[in-house]
Amino acid sequence: MSSPRAGHVVVVGSVNLDISVKVHRLPHPGETVLATSVHRTGGGKGANQAVAAARAGGTATSLIGRVGNDEEGRIMRSLLRHDRLDLRLTTLTDATSGLALVTVDDHAENSIVVAPGANASPVPLSHEDAQVVAQADVLLCQLETPPQLALDAAGHRRPGVPLLLNAAPAMPLPEALWNSIDMLIVNQHEATELTQDTTGTLDHRIAQLLQRTPTVLVTLGKQGSLLATRDQPWLHLPAPAVNAVDTTAAGDTFCGVLAAELANGVTTPNAVATANAAAALAVTRPGAQSSIPDYPEVTAAALGLLSGWTG
Ligand code: AMP
Repeated sequence: MSSPRAGHVVVVGSVNLDISVKVHRLPHPGETVLATSVHRTGGGKGANQAVAAARAGGTATSLIGRVGNDEEGRIMRSLLRHDRLDLRLTTLTDATSGLALVTVDDHAENSIVVAPGANASPVPLSHEDAQVVAQADVLLCQLETPPQLALDAAGHRRPGVPLLLNAAPAMPLPEALWNSIDMLIVNQHEATELTQDTTGTLDHRIAQLLQRTPTVLVTLGKQGSLLATRDQPWLHLPAPAVNAVDTTAAGDTFCGVLAAELANGVTTPNAVATANAAAALAVTRPGAQSSIPDYPEVTAAALGLLSGWTG
């Protein structure tokens, strides 16, 4: 079956294996507790966002990332093959694969340790990866891989191709990367971190970010998102009301779907509205990559046609 749409999203980012254990209560330092279940699932912001773009776009999505030469890397490759992704994972022999160790207690409190492993590699993009970036209609990066990698990727875009940077986790960015970003996507916490402004209002923080980048998109959880540009009135786009079960990967679904919509020529406000609908749908389901909706679901959610999912 031919693809209904043709835009090409290239995601450069992290790939993790998430190992989640359920416990009755989190252990104190030095204590051992017994888990009641163990799950291994695909994770990492880069991989999650690529899965979201591929499912929502029904079209070409490439994922450029790094894994180690180990069992975790092999598991991630095989998990990601279930989605129609153009997988561009480089195996590094001198690093372990990215691993997230997640412990969740009976009250849904969690503690998470991430070992970035191969994701933290400072190695620049290979010639082949650079050629993939050169085919992108939209380039999407995050900060679980080094900012320098996003900058490297940005340098291989064709002219006019936007860089969407999801600044998660927030960290200081090199000036050259600020100058390359076309759309910054952050949640409220990341907006505070990036501006180091803990006393001003959100609007004030956005105004500061707009001095560095032309478009800022702030995700607001169940309130949807705020699209701010330098020269247009800011737009608040609400998310549909849903019965939230698990907000894991909501932000990643939002970013991936947004990139797919923009790659297919959808206007930014309409793309944001669809990303809101898709992310809202993701929070009605448990898990990360397992909760990310596919193309028919995203289309139906965007049109408000899904019955039984709103709160
Ligand atoms: P966040 O990273 O929590 O700001 O969430 C990212 C996006 O997911 C938001 O912009 C919404 O589109 C969607 N979202 C998150 N939480 C909810 C919720 N409780 N209800 C509806 N949509 C949500």
